[in-house]
Amino acid sequence: MTALVDVEALDRWIREFAGQVAAHKELLTQLDAAIGDADHGANMDRGMTAVVAALVGSPPANAALLLKQVGMTLVSTVGGASGPLYGTFFLRMATASGEVTALDGQAFAKALRAGLEGVVSRGKAEAGDKTMYDALAPAVEALEGALSAAAPLTEALTEALTEALRAATRAAEDGRDATIAMLARKGRASYLGERSVGHQDPGATSAALLVAAAATALAQS
Ligand code: ADP
Ligand code: MG
Repeated sequence: MTALVDVEALDRWIREFAGQVAAHKELLTQLDAAIGDADHGANMDRGMTAVVAALVGSPPANAALLLKQVGMTLVSTVGGASGPLYGTFFLRMATASGEVTALDGQAFAKALRAGLEGVVSRGKAEAGDKTMYDALAPAVEALEGALSAAAPLTEALTEALTEALRAATRAAEDGRDATIAMLARKGRASYLGERSVGHQDPGATSAALLVAAAATALAQS
């Protein structure tokens, strides 16, 4: 099968996410100020700045090594709930990807699914709990659905993945927006009970940026 997501493409994705986090640092902090402790922007920016610093020079030799480095760096530099959650996401993605130099669309979707399962095993969030899960889960589902519906023609694969990632981004953004009406049942926001309703979840917002970054960075490959 044609290789679509190679190590360089994964590297572009991670750097694009870091750029998006930096550009939206204030927004993430403001959202967390409303229902948490106003550190989500700083947490994510600190983590992704460290990730980019660790990736300086030539990217790691294979997908597992790159994603593992991202996960380990996030776990060690991000305080708060989001560090271990995003860290686990990338560590599980690393294991699912394996020591390969490129992933096709299906393998990339499988790795994202494994990452999502890692977030669940770590944080126990379910749909509707008002967390990053509410943006990530619909995105993975949309990606899988779009890829399996795509024509299995080699020459159409790059286009199919690009389209599928766009569908995943729309699903992540819809999921993020849907957190506004939700009552938080996990994390700090859950301490607010009813007062958490009416506010967009910061983690779902950064998770939508992660998916959008994939659509931007991987469409170029
Ligand atoms: P903290 O809450 O420790 O200050 P952050 O502000 O960096 O950490 O991250 C908060 C985000 O983490 C929330 O908006 C939510 O999306 C996510 N989160 C918190 N707890 C969980 C959980 N158990 N499962 C999934 N996501 C969670
Ligand atoms: Mg916080």
